Amino acid sequence: MAALRDRPRACSSCDDGRVGPPRWFDTHAHLERYEPGELGPLLDRAAAAGVERVLAVSTGIVSSRRTVRLPPAVLRAVGAHPLQAAEGTGGLERLATAPGVVAIGEAGFDAQGPALVVQEAVFRSQCGLAADRRLAVVLHVDAAWEPFLAAADALAAVPVVVRHYFTADAVQAAWHAERGHYLSFGRPLLRDPALAAVARDYPAGLLLVETDAYPLPGRTTEPADVVAVGERLGALRGWAPDEAAARLWENSGRAFGLPV
Ligand SMILES: [Zn+2]
Repeated sequence: MAALRDRPRACSSCDDGRVGPPRWFDTHAHLERYEPGELGPLLDRAAAAGVERVLAVSTGIVSSRRTVRLPPAVLRAVGAHPLQAAEGTGGLERLATAPGVVAIGEAGFDAQGPALVVQEAVFRSQCGLAADRRLAVVLHVDAAWEPFLAAADALAAVPVVVRHYFTADAVQAAWHAERGHYLSFGRPLLRDPALAAVARDYPAGLLLVETDAYPLPGRTTEPADVVAVGERLGALRGWAPDEAAARLWENSGRAFGLPV
């Protein structure tokens, strides 16, 4: 199974049944955008922080082709971001069969994207593919809640839905909770009190964390930073860091069909 580093789980120096150090899972990073020379050290820093799984998420067909060529230690999502919807989904079906692909995405709606009719067609196509292949959909919805709702019937046959980088309000969270969707939180959780309230109240078994890391001058976020997000979420829920890591590890594994 893909993991950044194989670490023994049993504590060799203790006989009280304790397990090894916490394992964290960054459920959303754009690893294909890093130069190969940057990627290795970035993954090493993640592993050193206890981040044992990273899901590399794609934003278009070209991006998906790069994602499936990433090192086998990372998990993959292939798909077409709404901002890239004009590229279409040609070739996505084949890319979805690549080893390590556990999700389709990111897919959804964005107010800055092309015509809604184009975004909707690409979204529906990806939902159909996810349903056929029994894969999760990683959902991107940015300032486009109404257009998304108008097409959300397409998610009915999708086995797992993950709303990524959730920064919206309690009304949207409740809509997702009713449908058993996962919400994934990123670094905004560290600074936004209203978002913290949403994360505190959301069903415990449907919480995920992520960094949405990508290279950008001045932005330093990388997969290792998911630990701070997970610990913050744990503090909001009354979970010690180890418990937060264990719960989020299990939720993430369940969401993406991985052994936990
Ligand atoms: Zn993203």
